[in-house]
Amino acid sequence: MPTLFSRILSGEIPGEIVFENEKVFAIRDINPVAPTHILIIPKTEIVGLSSLPAEGDHLAILNAAKEIAEQEGLTDGFRLVINDGADAGQTVPHLHAHLIGGRALGWPPG
Ligand code: AMP
Repeated sequence: MPTLFSRILSGEIPGEIVFENEKVFAIRDINPVAPTHILIIPKTEIVGLSSLPAEGDHLAILNAAKEIAEQEGLTDGFRLVINDGADAGQTVPHLHAHLIGGRALGWPPG
């Protein structure tokens, strides 16, 4: 059974795809916490960071973050967050990085 995010990529579920290459895609978060809140998702269905294989195209996530931040005009800064597991509040078991920006961000996160 494809994950929620894979079903958005295939068009089965609606979503705004803002970036795509052969390794990753990115969608606007349905419940944004900042003016820009984009999820960067590897096309490979890895459950989360703690189950990341040793080998792979993981650098593609960072490269996409840089490119999307430029695309979104986040010249004053942005944050990239990966929630892993229950304590971090991960709700979708398909690895994704939250690209958040467009306002000053507090630290530390909750
Ligand atoms: P996490 O809690 O780190 O697993 O993040 C999952 C994110 O997916 C949350 O920020 C949700 O708002 C977001 N989300 C859930 N369903 C959708 C959807 N259909 N389209 C876009 N984003 C979604």
